Amino acid sequence: MSTIKFEEAEQKNDVKIPDNLVFGQNFTTNYFQLDYDTKKGGWHSPTIKKFEDFKISPAALAFHYGQEIFEGLKAYKHADGKIVLFRPEENIKRLNRSAKRLCMPEVDMDLALTALKELVKLEQDWIPTKPGHSLYIRPLMFASDPYIGVKAGDQYKLMIMLSPVGPYYPEGFKPVPILATDEYVRAVRKGVGDCKTAGNYAASLLAQREAKKEGYSQVLWLDAIQQKYIEEVGTMNIFIHFKDEVVTPMLTGSILPGVTRMSVIQILKDWGYNIVERNISIDEVVEGYKNGNLVELFGTGTAAIISSISKLKYKDTVMEWSSEHAGVLGTKLYEEILGIQYGEREDKHNWLTYVE
Ligand SMILES: *Cc1c(COP(=O)(O)O)cnc(C)c1O
Repeated sequence: MSTIKFEEAEQKNDVKIPDNLVFGQNFTTNYFQLDYDTKKGGWHSPTIKKFEDFKISPAALAFHYGQEIFEGLKAYKHADGKIVLFRPEENIKRLNRSAKRLCMPEVDMDLALTALKELVKLEQDWIPTKPGHSLYIRPLMFASDPYIGVKAGDQYKLMIMLSPVGPYYPEGFKPVPILATDEYVRAVRKGVGDCKTAGNYAASLLAQREAKKEGYSQVLWLDAIQQKYIEEVGTMNIFIHFKDEVVTPMLTGSILPGVTRMSVIQILKDWGYNIVERNISIDEVVEGYKNGNLVELFGTGTAAIISSISKLKYKDTVMEWSSEHAGVLGTKLYEEILGIQYGEREDKHNWLTYVE
């Protein structure tokens, strides 16, 4: 593979990060693109170029049959100016697992890592340094063949774009209310629920909209077959802290294997918690709430890191915790992970990749 070509990649001196960053609205000057063509021997022409609209055929396969996958990770700038990525190899591995399931080409680990580092290095003035701020990184891959028959594409584009972001909850680390739905399901085992692919999110929007109307900020997803076992909360993995164990649903194929989930499991093990990956029913949660065994619930994901839960409604049962203060364990984990990411706490497991 040729080295990365820098097209209109000169860094402007006028980088101005907006004061009130809204998640996902701002993009940096340049982005990365890599093209794939079966007929040209696979991936070719890695390029960093100006972030702008591009031309594509209305017949592009991804628009019609959904061959699209993505990732999400973050870059942080430490107080000493060093720039780091948090566990980027895990995101590339997951991108490749998603690619395999959707008949898309895998990408070379070293090339993807180099692309991430080179792009972030070039765009480093865009990394906000205020507390809780970071540079969100969005890799994206889709089939671009101009062809409207159902088949796996022969042409793909891999793009990496960057977006400076503020804290997920600008008003502070506040717990959020969630609604368990048995009206809709997100994903089914042996389907694509464990892939970061567009269709999963399209499928979740209606439930999300209806939950919002009822005053809840996220949907708690139950398994697609019995609507009995807890799977995820919104686009986050979920943890349930009982008095004698911390439980997170085991990966059954319909749950997205989160990098934050993996990190939280490791940290809880390091701290000596009894952390268990198993099936957990919504009835067990209701029972734990009623008998006082359930201490707190929280979601985990790259965007918010930890999302504490203030209220959970399931059928006619409304379970409530503090709506003012995030749970104790969730807060401890949030501080630990953020501390590692900002270089303020020991990175015992070598989760940080230094950009230079
Ligand atoms: C991305 C995502 C997560 C969280 O994964 P992280 O790697 O921790 O960001 C959880 N669930 C869904 C459905 C997701 O898309």
